[in-house]
Amino acid sequence: MVAIYGTVEMGGTKTSCAVGSSPEDLSREMTIPTTDPRETLGRVIDHLAIGSLAAVGIASFGPLELRPGHPEYGNIRFTPKEDWSGVDVVGPFQAAFDVPVGLDTDVNGAALGEREWGAGRGLGSFVYVTVGTGIGGGAVVEGQPIHGLGHPEMGHISVRRHPDDDYPGSCPAHGDCLEGLANGPAVEGRHDAPGSELGGDELDRALAIEAFYLTQLVRDLVYTLAPERVILGGGVSLMPGLVERVGAGLAAELAGYPGLVEHEQGFVVPPGLGRLSGLAGGLILADVAFRSSG
Ligand code: ZN
Repeated sequence: MVAIYGTVEMGGTKTSCAVGSSPEDLSREMTIPTTDPRETLGRVIDHLAIGSLAAVGIASFGPLELRPGHPEYGNIRFTPKEDWSGVDVVGPFQAAFDVPVGLDTDVNGAALGEREWGAGRGLGSFVYVTVGTGIGGGAVVEGQPIHGLGHPEMGHISVRRHPDDDYPGSCPAHGDCLEGLANGPAVEGRHDAPGSELGGDELDRALAIEAFYLTQLVRDLVYTLAPERVILGGGVSLMPGLVERVGAGLAAELAGYPGLVEHEQGFVVPPGLGRLSGLAGGLILADVAFRSSG
């Protein structure tokens, strides 16, 4: 890639943007709180408005309308995040820059970044999972992220409850789905402090419960998508030792079936790009939009 793109990663809590062509040459990186749509999108557009960009790629929280040609393409559909339901996140960038704009979910974007430059390199099928304010997964199958009627919402699967967990669940739609029991607010609600501030026995208890839930997601991914690897990213996944615990717990969840040695070690890994997966993914989305426009 030689063109210079704008890349935007929009999360429920914070939004980042930068300019570049690869994770190594990102410049003008900025991270701001995700406030109301007008302020958030306005600040990002103002920040990126330097020189000429060939395209813009956006990896955004959702749910998103992504079906090409749909009258509401580019809109955030119903979300509990105040003021964001029905917001068009593509139009303002097209209007400001008059360039192709690519859009996908935050996790599909991060998966594309990891496919190109990170822990998904060389793999045909893998899943990028983020565990933060929300839980979501971007599944790459035969090299491409899965889309369909909407996009996967794998954070909302049902899980068995940990026997020592009486936290009611934080999901506004389902209560105690995976996201409701294992997202950042659930950790904080259960332990009265964010995961990053826990220590000693309380950290150990938090890790045991968190790994118990996330391992069930990885099991379900193994059984539904047969990925070659699961990449575990997002703020909560930075709790010390969590990624390793999920990987180590998988054997018990799979109970010897299908009995592949590949699931035993190095199957659940942190992102190769660290915190840059999403912005890297935005570059890929911009590149795809740029190439398909011309
Ligand atoms: Zn849910």
